[in-house]
Amino acid sequence: MAPSPWPFRPLAALLLLASSACRPAARAEEAPAAALAYPADHHMHLGSADLCARLPAEEPCGSYRTPLSVLAEDAVRALDAAHVGKGMVFSAAYLYGLPEFKLPPDSVAYWMRRENEFTAAEVAKAPDRLVGMMSVDPLAPAALDEIARWRGSPLLRGLKMHLFANKVDVRDPAQRDRLGAVFQAAGEAGMPIVVHVGGAPFGAAEAGLFLREVLPRAGGRPVQVAHGAGGGLPPNGPRHVAVLRAFADQIVAHGPGTDSLYFDLSYFVWKDEDAAAVAQLLVEVRRIGVERFFFASDFDVQTVVAAAAAVDSLPLTPEERAVVARSCAPWVCGAASPAASP
Ligand SMILES: [Zn+2]
Repeated sequence: MAPSPWPFRPLAALLLLASSACRPAARAEEAPAAALAYPADHHMHLGSADLCARLPAEEPCGSYRTPLSVLAEDAVRALDAAHVGKGMVFSAAYLYGLPEFKLPPDSVAYWMRRENEFTAAEVAKAPDRLVGMMSVDPLAPAALDEIARWRGSPLLRGLKMHLFANKVDVRDPAQRDRLGAVFQAAGEAGMPIVVHVGGAPFGAAEAGLFLREVLPRAGGRPVQVAHGAGGGLPPNGPRHVAVLRAFADQIVAHGPGTDSLYFDLSYFVWKDEDAAAVAQLLVEVRRIGVERFFFASDFDVQTVVAAAAAVDSLPLTPEERAVVARSCAPWVCGAASPAASP
């Protein structure tokens, strides 16, 4: 039986959701990789030795070497094991803004820069396989300077944020405006954005605030919502359904910025997710359009092979499965310039 992952393991939700009990069964790990082909994995993490040294020992940060780190070669190996072509790898710089790290703003700025530089250097080792994304804690004073630093970078082409990890409260007007300013800066820099919104207290009302007041400020740049707008610790089924429904409502209504909304399927459903909740989620997926959902793993929290098995387990029709199997975001599979993304 799994230990309760919350609040005793407060960092478990950061990279995102790992506890050993939540990993797919061994059967999935042994699935034939040749059957698991996707053009790209749209959600992977790298981590420097400095960052990994700060995370609790039980957190996933690779087990490939000492000191712990997750490098480009690890991501490429994981892609190869699942016969997946490319990987979009996120800098973990946002984690330096964690309240648990207790870093003063100058240190947050320094270490965010270091972690983004580390990620860029790793991507440069496998530029034909990996597309990098910088990250920031959007509430950190240095966030806008950091985005400006990477504007136009061929290595770090977009911006990843994790609202739950950085405790961004979209109900707070000041924080909502700050988040909007970060979206605007990334949009003006031509960067696609990946944002993790899932986890309490982010529910339907918060999704509405995000959709009406934050998303439009990206200026029409692509925004990929991690984990299909889920990603909270279990039990999160009803909350996830409510959040995804709020997204679907706004997409169906053609709200500002929603033409450029996408979702990734990493940890979209849990291994033992309630079947009724899965069915409700798929109602919303179909309202949104399955073509907006991209294959993703959340490596190194989960292997790419295991993620492929999890996506295979979704009760999609053969036609829907074929759409997911060939989907690749233009900012991953397209031209090198971020300006070439839709
Ligand atoms: Zn993740």
